[in-house]
Amino acid sequence: MEAARRMKILAAEDNPISQSMLRSMLTKWGYEVLTAANGNEAWNILQSAEAPRMAILDWMMPGQDGVEVCRRLRAASAEPYTYILLLTARSDSQDLVEAIDAGADDYLTKPFNSSELRARLRAGRRIVELQEQLLEAQEALRERATHDGLTSLYNRVAILDLLRQELARATREPLPFSILMADLDHFKEINDRHGHQAGDEVLREAARRMKKTMRCYDSLGRYGGEEFLVVLPSCDECGAWTMAERLRQSLGDEPFAFGEALFPITCSIGCATQPAGDAYDCDSLIRLADGALYTAKHRGRNRTEVAQPELVVL
Ligand code: GH3
Ligand code: MG
Ligand code: MG
Ligand code: MG
Repeated sequence: MEAARRMKILAAEDNPISQSMLRSMLTKWGYEVLTAANGNEAWNILQSAEAPRMAILDWMMPGQDGVEVCRRLRAASAEPYTYILLLTARSDSQDLVEAIDAGADDYLTKPFNSSELRARLRAGRRIVELQEQLLEAQEALRERATHDGLTSLYNRVAILDLLRQELARATREPLPFSILMADLDHFKEINDRHGHQAGDEVLREAARRMKKTMRCYDSLGRYGGEEFLVVLPSCDECGAWTMAERLRQSLGDEPFAFGEALFPITCSIGCATQPAGDAYDCDSLIRLADGALYTAKHRGRNRTEVAQPELVVL
């Protein structure tokens, strides 16, 4: 079981003979062992990137002792969790209380029985693995709550949250700020002619193409069925227009494929900009972009229109 995935473990022990014994035992049990000969080294290893999630700390060590390392580690961060077993020659119950209060998960008195250490580490490993699973599950839930299942873009709630935050930041700075509302043209026909699955694939491919076109600090979300909202921080009207045209070309330049079928896809885009120094609210900005999108549809589709700021209702 222990060998299934080599778990990294830190063995911090200042006595070279004890350290080497620990190393060979742990290696035999399938752990990937890192060693430290004093508390400072132990601290540095536990702070590093890819730090081990399990540590055996000798209590008495030069520099910081094991209990101090433990206390600092618990004060520094809760995630990801590091399982700590303290080793010590001290055995009265007051010491045990001090070790546990400092944040140690377990405590073993020297000289210890190797099977006992092995069993306790196995229990520790279970805790570490459970915590990893919990974090993964949390991350998956977060992803599901904020992303659209079909395109993996931000969903409507998430892109609107992001818009609110970025608009507030732009207003504070102050910097220009733009959004785009893009809607696929005659998308219903794709569903009607080629089926719903083809429609879904078009949405996925449209999302991929648009995402590829954008700057890393721009954000793209699925606002509705075949409607996408793009958030463009620090972007003035001219920049927004340029970005909209690039997005439009990314869809229109190459036909989309579904099985044997190849078909052209175009979109219409409405741009809205808050100039630096102005303070629009979110809804007004969206209304502006929507209005411009409506104009683009009205004027024949496959085009970009820029909103008229005088229409803003504050
Ligand atoms: P316009 O150029 O005016 O935007 O025309 P349109 O056909 O694109 O717009 P309309 O609003 O009439 O139709 C949008 C269609 O998008 C209708 C709906 O069934 C389809 N749609 C919405 N969400 C999805 C989806 O997740 N998958 C698929 N396949 N179709 C979807
Ligand atoms: Mg020691
Ligand atoms: Mg449409
Ligand atoms: Mg639509």
